[in-house]
Amino acid sequence: MSTSKTAGPAAGSGSGTATEARAARAALPLVFDAPRRAMPPAHLADLSPEQRRAAVAELGLPPFRADQLSRHYFGRLEADPAAMTDLPAAVRDRLRDALLPPLVTSVTELSCDDGATRKTLWKAHDGIRAESVLMGYPDRATVCVSSQAGCGMACPFCATGQGGLRRNLSTGEIVEQVRQAAAAARDGVLGEPTRLSNVVFMGMGEPLANYKRVVDAVRRITEPAPAGLGISARGVTVSTVGLVPAIDKLTAEGLAVTLAVSLHTPDDELRDTLVPVNNRWKVAEVLAAARRYADATGRRVSIEYALIREVNDQPWRADLLGRMLREQLSARLVHVNLIPLNPTPGSEWDASPLPVQEEFVARVRAAGVACTVRDTRGREIAAACGQLAADSTP
Ligand code: SAH
Repeated sequence: MSTSKTAGPAAGSGSGTATEARAARAALPLVFDAPRRAMPPAHLADLSPEQRRAAVAELGLPPFRADQLSRHYFGRLEADPAAMTDLPAAVRDRLRDALLPPLVTSVTELSCDDGATRKTLWKAHDGIRAESVLMGYPDRATVCVSSQAGCGMACPFCATGQGGLRRNLSTGEIVEQVRQAAAAARDGVLGEPTRLSNVVFMGMGEPLANYKRVVDAVRRITEPAPAGLGISARGVTVSTVGLVPAIDKLTAEGLAVTLAVSLHTPDDELRDTLVPVNNRWKVAEVLAAARRYADATGRRVSIEYALIREVNDQPWRADLLGRMLREQLSARLVHVNLIPLNPTPGSEWDASPLPVQEEFVARVRAAGVACTVRDTRGREIAAACGQLAADSTP
């Protein structure tokens, strides 16, 4: 997005402190353009293979040095030039200074689920913080990465959205979260040595508001080594609040990643307050863009729905959701992912009771639409959906 735009969502009316608190939170502005802060130094992971060769040539080195460096970094997940013993020492120093500056350093690691869920708090060159979450399963491992420090989308039930946007992360900073997670999983941090198979852009930030850096990161993540990390595009999910022009741009990229849309309710009236960007692009426009994505890629779109007690969990909303998805996306091209609401500081909202959740699932399925409840990991370490806050004061 190139110009600065803000749109105040409709504030709630009524009296009482809870209502006022909710209105105050919902009144946060939408921020599409990140504050202009110093971005990190350039890094190998910012660059395509051709750009890497050009960068190496600028240092007065032959192009094959770029390929060697890529084999270490993307192929062996090695970022410490000291370990790259096939490179002459003087060359190593120059390459490190120019192309491998440390971008994100782990400040804190918290784990739960017997070590199968690990949250890392990262600090960038300017002190800004962001979090990622690595989750181990019997047959795979997933990392949930941040695309921005903070988020400008102002969703009132999300801790990240309530903290505001600090800055965009660079492509290198995003790829580094993935590389370090892949190395940690390989080295057995989850118990058994595990191959990182999935990357979800569901950490802090709105990925499509940091479009170019995120798409470049997806390329680095999915291209086979040594151009990239070699993770299958099928294992990569980009989640969005529904920035319609950016969804269309993504459709045109021809990347076979899964698109997730944070819908949270099928009706505009409620969505205008739950997902304030709905004031710009309505439910029907978002679903139409999701349909174009699904048609172009053949991939099922995932619809995210955080179930909030007595807010968006009514049977009629389940029926409307099922019907709209079947009609506007076709049952074949969509899957609903229900997320029991995770608690966030200061929020008066809760998850729906189990019987209500079960009825919701049954009604969506009755419309012929696939619906599952997400196995939420990491609640006790504030690592679950919507809980990443990272206390980002540098
Ligand atoms: N900005 C993007 C990427 C974040 S993904 C997006 O919104 O899609 C994080 C997912 O968790 C989103 O679907 C978000 O709406 C959801 N979420 C946020 N807060 C939550 C909470 N408190 N409980 C459950 N899900 C939440």
